[in-house]
This record gives sequence, C-alpha cells and structure tokens, in this order.
Amino acid sequence: MPREKKEVVMPSKKSNIIYENWKVYSKAHKLMFRCNEKKAQWYLKRELATLLPKETRSIKLTFEAKGDGHKKGDYMVEDRSNICISCGGDQYLTIHHVVPEMYRHWMPLAVKSKSSRDLLLLCKHCHNGYEDKAMKFKKQCVNRFNIPLEGHGWVYLPHYKVAKKAASALIRSADKIPQDRQQVLKDTVLKFWNEYRKEVKEKEAVHSDKEEEITSGNKGEETVTEETVGDGNEDWDTILEKCSLLEDHFRGSDFIEHGNKVIQQLTKNCVRNDRGQETWPDLEGFIKEWRQHFLDHIDPKFLSELWTVDGDIYTR
Ligand SMILES: [Zn+2]
Repeated sequence: MPREKKEVVMPSKKSNIIYENWKVYSKAHKLMFRCNEKKAQWYLKRELATLLPKETRSIKLTFEAKGDGHKKGDYMVEDRSNICISCGGDQYLTIHHVVPEMYRHWMPLAVKSKSSRDLLLLCKHCHNGYEDKAMKFKKQCVNRFNIPLEGHGWVYLPHYKVAKKAASALIRSADKIPQDRQQVLKDTVLKFWNEYRKEVKEKEAVHSDKEEEITSGNKGEETVTEETVGDGNEDWDTILEKCSLLEDHFRGSDFIEHGNKVIQQLTKNCVRNDRGQETWPDLEGFIKEWRQHFLDHIDPKFLSELWTVDGDIYTR
C-alpha cells in the first residue's frame, strides 16, 4: 500500500469533545486501541501508520507493535460518547479519575501508564456530587493505612503561627480590635520579630561565614521597639506584612505523602505472573474497590456495559 503523505484533514474540534475516537489497527488488521487526533497525527507524520481510506478516523500501524492491544470487545476499543456517564449531559464535562490521582500518581508504570480505562467523563454537577463520597472513602484510608490525608512528617513552628495570626488580625481589622488587645497583638509581633531577625542573621552568618560581623554588632542587631520601629529597619507595615506571610509549617526530611504510603503498603506483596511479570494483588484489590465505590454512588446510566470493576488493571 502506498504511504499516505497528504496532510490529514481533521474534523472541526469543539471544546466539549474529549474522546476523539480514532481507531488504531495492527498490521494484521486487529483493532488494538483508541486514541485522540494528536496521537494519530503523531503516527502518521512519522510514517508509523497509514490512513484507512474506507473508514473514518482510522489508522493502521506500519510496524509490528509490541503486545496485541486490548481484547476484542473490550471497553478500551469501543467508541466513546462525549457525554456525562451519569446524567448524559454534554456541557461542563470533566475527566474524572475513578482512582484518585493522589493514589494513581504513586502506582507502578505497568498500572498507571497510558490507561484511560479509569478516566471517565462527568459533568461538573455530577462530579461535585460524587466528590463528597470519595472524600469519605479517602478518610477511611487514613485509619486503614495509618497515614493522615495531609501526609506524615510535617514540621510545625508554633511561635511562627502565633505571630502570623497576630499580624494578620492587625492587618485585617485593627479598627475593630479594642486598644488593649491591639497592644497585646503588637507586643506579640515585635517580640517574635526581634527573635526572628536574630535567627535569620545567624543563619546568614553561618552560610556566608561572617561570624565576626555578628559579634561586632551592627544596626540590624538592635532590638526593635515600638519607638524605634522604622528607624533604620523595616517599618511597621512591612513587619506586619512579612509576619502575616510566614510559613508556619514545612515538610521535614522524612515527610511522606498519604498516597505514597498507601501505595507502598499495597505493592509490598509482589507476585510474578506466568509470563514473569510483576503483579500486585493488594493494589489490584484497592483499584477494584474504587471502581465499585464509583459505581455504587454515581448511578452511571450512560456508562458502557463493557466497563466493569474487573476490567484490566495492567497496561502491558
Ligand atoms: Zn452529569
């Protein structure tokens, strides 16, 4: 077959079209998978595929592909509609991750790469309705895997937090705070500021090896009081602003994200299949739990019947 060199004419693209439903056939004319227009163009431009003239939006690979693609009749090779799989609406569509990205991100490539099986279309309304339920499931994972949703290993700086709150209150609503309370807040900020400046100076000295400068004393070393504020140092508004923007917690050296720790536990048990490839039975179970949770709570009236909880987990 002569190689197709013409520029391919693409259908007009509308913003609510997410699935472009290009078919990709193997050399032996087996429907292997679906892809979007950009991917089809990628194959065509490199002459790795030719257009199939009798079918719309179809290409045939010119090389023997690794693997055989998806099974005949699998969800991954059928046409997909650009509608919400719950209500059928075609506006404000979003791509929903059936297994939340916070977990998927840490999964082995053989599970997460190139798979759109667990990416389904939901309109914003249906998506928002499901998110509360998904959050409950994530919270159950906190106890089950012994890791808070915000991760483990945060380092908190309580004195930063106190100064930050005091400065923010003074910036936001000083006019509504009684004078004596304002004074307490100002004292809190100034006391913190003097210690903070000392800390910063000491750190700078360590970095630039300027210990001498510290012991010799300079303008920046002097304690700032209400009377001397702005006198060769930052003015009061700058101090307040800097304090209100303080980072009062940060990730320590042993910090670990919730999703990372969950996936670590779920991939501990690794079993080789009959082709010698790694599989993770616990992770498979977790993915299926999310799929089932989604089906139980979303009422997917417009989802293909070929999409099932037991659909393939691995993409190799
Ligand atoms: Zn919807």
